[in-house]
Amino acid sequence: MVLVTVRTRAVSRPGIFARAAGPSQEAINLIPASTARHLDGHLHGRQRADVLVVGGGTAGFVAATAAARNGAQTILAEYLPFLGGTHGGGAMVMGTIGFRPTGESSHRVEAAGQLMVGGIPLEYYDRMLAARGTSGDPGDPSNAWPKDLEISKVVTEEMVAEAGADIWFMTQLVDVIVDDGAVVGALVTRGGGLVRVDTGIIIDASGDGIAAVQAGAEYEVGRPSDNKAEAATLYFEMAGIDLGRLLDHLADHPEDISHHHRDRGVSAATLRRDWEAGGPFVVRLGVNYAAGKEAGLLPTPVGAERSAHTDPSLGTFWMHWRDGQWVASSFSVNMDTTYGLDPRDRDAYDDALMATRRFVLDMVRYYQANAPGFEDAYLLRFATLLGVREGPRILGRYLLTADDVAAASDFPDAVGRCGVRVDIHPEDPGGREFLLTDVGGDRGWYQVPYRSLVATDVDGVMMAGRNISADHVAHGSVRHQVTCMMIGQAAGTAAAIAARQGVPPHDIDISLLQSTLRRQGAII
Ligand SMILES: Cc1cc2nc3c(=O)[nH]c(=O)nc-3n(C[C@H](O)[C@H](O)[C@H](O)COP(=O)(O)OP(=O)(O)OC[C@H]3O[C@@H](n4cnc5c(N)ncnc54)[C@H](O)[C@@H]3O)c2cc1C
Repeated sequence: MVLVTVRTRAVSRPGIFARAAGPSQEAINLIPASTARHLDGHLHGRQRADVLVVGGGTAGFVAATAAARNGAQTILAEYLPFLGGTHGGGAMVMGTIGFRPTGESSHRVEAAGQLMVGGIPLEYYDRMLAARGTSGDPGDPSNAWPKDLEISKVVTEEMVAEAGADIWFMTQLVDVIVDDGAVVGALVTRGGGLVRVDTGIIIDASGDGIAAVQAGAEYEVGRPSDNKAEAATLYFEMAGIDLGRLLDHLADHPEDISHHHRDRGVSAATLRRDWEAGGPFVVRLGVNYAAGKEAGLLPTPVGAERSAHTDPSLGTFWMHWRDGQWVASSFSVNMDTTYGLDPRDRDAYDDALMATRRFVLDMVRYYQANAPGFEDAYLLRFATLLGVREGPRILGRYLLTADDVAAASDFPDAVGRCGVRVDIHPEDPGGREFLLTDVGGDRGWYQVPYRSLVATDVDGVMMAGRNISADHVAHGSVRHQVTCMMIGQAAGTAAAIAARQGVPPHDIDISLLQSTLRRQGAII
């Protein structure tokens, strides 16, 4: 086990993390069972569960599915009215990154082309295909890029509900009840009232480690030097784009295509070929940015002093996939919109969300006025969520490190593989480009240990998704969607075993966990 130093940064604005940063963390940060008893007469409801999954996002919907399929009475509490989290509300691509080794030199690694992740994530991909929610071939997720956000809501909830878990939408975790160092329950708001869930196991799939911190777990955030996290992004969608006109412009201005894509042979001609073949069309672009920047017209991202958009963070445009077909006039855009956001600081988050929507609208106006093909384009919608790439990472019984990622580490308690490149978006506006680093040496992948999914400070708390125990650099690799889903399956399966064996998650039989995961399609 690796010993870690906790580096939390004090925040002055309201929220649990402001309290967590203070010295009296244990006294304030969780509800002792004795105090919780005083609430009994004021509760709206009370229910028992073997496992409570907090957050029905990318990892959480898989964790709940796995826990329920393995026999645990499971409640999934999600504060949005749909499942999928960043994968859904963040309006993310389908996310095939992670099914196979993914990096600049991934075609050269020993595992090139091999499946890294199977099990429930692969089943989800196949079910999305069958439901016309994405494109590609069954069992071969390499080609699925965009997805239909609406169909993904239906597929995710069907999987969880069919498994037998209770989905509680618009339900927010309020606090965790702890007795003698172990979780005994949680309080959630549901339908305007307070509901108590009696449970010994909570899987924190909230992205930001909300439940684990409430339970008293320690965490790290951001890069070690100053705790700054990766840039955040509010995805947005535009429609009414004249792709033909845009392609004519790109033929005359190849410099508007990011060098990352040009280096891989992308040009106006290859894009036109893709478009004429019906799609997909995916490209990182900055249409007329150079002139716009010189004229001082390019909008300034939130948290930056001037436009920070240099070539690589220009914005990835991808054609929409809707109900079984490509929509050539309608695009999603991913660019770094928001710098310096600390998701623990709720007032700052609110301000950043509003400011980012204004920035995006300014960008849309910029395209309309300056980008050929966008003259009649319009904002279709903002993503529901301001996408946070990095929040608190909960300290678990093992801290996955940059060295593990680089050295292709294996672990006796491994629960899955990750071959996703390290992708760290700039913490500072105008800072370096993305940090893109290959992983796993010649092999091309490393293992994720179970101990990184189990909190150290309180029994019964597990993590699933981007908040697992990993350092800043390792997080840049494991945070990707397919890996989060793989982790979700491991956490849910382990939680069900712990509930059945009547032991805390750190005491389960690891070989039973691994054999169960393998039997259920996981690749370790
Ligand atoms: C802008 C952006 C672009 C990205 N691009 C890619 C990409 O191209 N490919 C890729 O593979 N990955 C990408 N990622 C990374 C990936 O999408 C995320 O890291 C991953 O989806 C996180 O999954 P998660 O399950 O940890 O959290 P989430 O999917 O965010 O789920 C957390 C869930 O918890 C819920 N929740 C939070 N607090 C509470 C509470 N108190 N009570 C109840 N529910 C709660 C939330 O509503 C949410 O549904 C991107 C991320 C961002 C932000």
